[in-house]
Amino acid sequence: MDEDLEVFDDEEDEASGGRPLKVAIIGRPNVGKSTLFNRLVGKKLALVDDRPGVTRDRREGEARLGDLNLIVIDTAGLEEATEDALENRMRKGSETAIDEADVSLFLIDARAGVTPADEMWAETLRVRSKPVILVANKAEGAAADAGIYESYALGFGEPAALSAEHGEGMSDLYQALRPHADALAAGEAAPRDPDALKPLRVAIVGRPNAGKSTLVNQMIGEERMLTGPEAGITRDAIGVNWSWDDGERVWPIKLYDTAGMRKKARVQEKLEKLSVSDSLRAISFAEVVVLMFDATQSFEKQDLQIADLIVKEGRAVVLAANKWDAVEDRDAAAKHLRERAERLLPQIPKAPLVRFSALTGKGVERLMPAVTSVYVDWNAKVKTSALNDWLADATTRHPPPAVGGRRVRIRYIAQTKTRPPTFVAMCSRAAELPDSYKRYLINGIREAFNIPAVPIRLIVKKPDNPYVKD
Ligand code: GDP
Ligand code: GDP
Repeated sequence: MDEDLEVFDDEEDEASGGRPLKVAIIGRPNVGKSTLFNRLVGKKLALVDDRPGVTRDRREGEARLGDLNLIVIDTAGLEEATEDALENRMRKGSETAIDEADVSLFLIDARAGVTPADEMWAETLRVRSKPVILVANKAEGAAADAGIYESYALGFGEPAALSAEHGEGMSDLYQALRPHADALAAGEAAPRDPDALKPLRVAIVGRPNAGKSTLVNQMIGEERMLTGPEAGITRDAIGVNWSWDDGERVWPIKLYDTAGMRKKARVQEKLEKLSVSDSLRAISFAEVVVLMFDATQSFEKQDLQIADLIVKEGRAVVLAANKWDAVEDRDAAAKHLRERAERLLPQIPKAPLVRFSALTGKGVERLMPAVTSVYVDWNAKVKTSALNDWLADATTRHPPPAVGGRRVRIRYIAQTKTRPPTFVAMCSRAAELPDSYKRYLINGIREAFNIPAVPIRLIVKKPDNPYVKD
């Protein structure tokens, strides 16, 4: 580390030209985010918006590091909260910062080493697949060495070791940022984490005692894990890397088992009030969510809340009725299950429902085919021409209702996103199209394009062109 680079907060010398590089500072509380922000941006600017007692918005400031022009986003204060709803909002704030930035500086406290909370942030960053520079802060002195080495295991390559408080290591930070600034200047996509592996991310959520841990053990075989290194199976603080062979291809899978996450997080909780709703966290990481419940019990509020979160986050979902071995009248239970499932997820009435016994293993083999199948649906892409042919047909068969004596007309529809499939329909009087008609369209899309089992979003918009008339 050296101190030969100064941080400027003035406006002179536009050496790097173009727009500044946007940098988000991310990490758990107390790793030194604000300290780094203040060092980069300068105290004067940092005080803007930093009113105690006021709900903290993130702070942004301009900075110079050597010849680099930066806009730095500080997320300190966005990461900690006590209530779940708030926690969710705070997490979203940090995620927005990650998404908006060209690169994130992911800070850990090298003196404390890698903590479970750091691993959760690592996962959040990995999932968002934006460029990340790992920063081992508080790196002054030998007490930090072990933490610096430990941080390699986070999977973001070599850390930039620095001391935000003492201003050491700023040239390492400069070296790490330089390629990102160059890529920006050249108009290229910024370099990404080179070995970002992309397994299918599956979360197993549900009420306590639904059988989540039992299922994970049944699927991957905890004993095999303990008796020797089974190829491809590793466990980190928050999940299990595994693979599943469907007979035709091998799927790399990452299983987030919330029971395991909870145990890990509890250790940390005392230290820094890491108030995390396990399910919420797992859902935010996952692509497919397995919502597990105990078939011998009826639904409770908590099941509905979790289901609601899954749909809000737009995840693909598989319902899993566990403890089928303990169900007495199976015929009656099977009959009721579907009804109950539709009540749980009215937006996805055809979500697959798998029955099994995690304890005995009977039926568990049906879970992964359902998971991969909804995953494929979740990524579905529908051609615009096919969609509009369908739209013409659907609106002829069942025209939108007249409002105030005038028909609402839908002119055009296109898919704008996948994961989950999202459609935008252009409609001259968008606000007047009733929800029941939107549901008709969504169900029509499901049927026509064979996307039965994942959330579908339909956004109805007025055309941008004000001269288009009814
Ligand atoms: P934040 O919650 O991530 O924004 O962390 P802060 O910037 O508030 O810093 C948390 C604590 O760590 C404060 O007491 C800082 O003085 C201290 N700190 C920050 N950077 C360093 C550093 O480089 N070395 C040491 N030893 N302490 C630091
Ligand atoms: P978690 O809290 O969701 O992780 O639930 P666990 O996996 O710890 O299971 C809770 C309890 O349910 C344990 O006593 C398990 O043995 C039991 N259990 C799990 N799966 C089954 C099953 O398929 N059948 C029966 N009868 N019991 C099960």
